[in-house]
Amino acid sequence: MTIYKKYMDIAESVSYLSPDPKKKVGAILITKKKNGFIKIISVGYNRFVESENQYIKKLNWDDREYTKLHIIHAEVDCLSYINKNDELIGERYMLCTLSPCIECFKYIIEYNINTVFFKEKKDKTFFIIEKLAIEYNISLIQI
Ligand SMILES: [Zn+2]
Repeated sequence: MTIYKKYMDIAESVSYLSPDPKKKVGAILITKKKNGFIKIISVGYNRFVESENQYIKKLNWDDREYTKLHIIHAEVDCLSYINKNDELIGERYMLCTLSPCIECFKYIIEYNINTVFFKEKKDKTFFIIEKLAIEYNISLIQI
């Protein structure tokens, strides 16, 4: 388990890149081959949506309902840099500083992530995530 804590530290470092002053979340995707070799595939953090037709808005971070409309979560940001049909050899593990929300967990299912390690538990929705994890055979491990 200690090896995954080292990768969680990396996810934590990645979270510092988030522009959100109130809640910084980081996620990294790693693969583990049968021989034990681990490789980082992608990283992500909660950030603004990006559009070529949009200038960078000055968000009022105190208005959380408004900012929610403009933020992409760390897990989706992390997965957006890979092609879900890519043949990644080995198990796919995601390490998140916060347990995934329901929307992000759907992407975790789609991208065939085998295990999600998380640090802080999002209590409100965690029981739903636990049910989905069992249904789709994804391990959820708090470290
Ligand atoms: Zn999310």
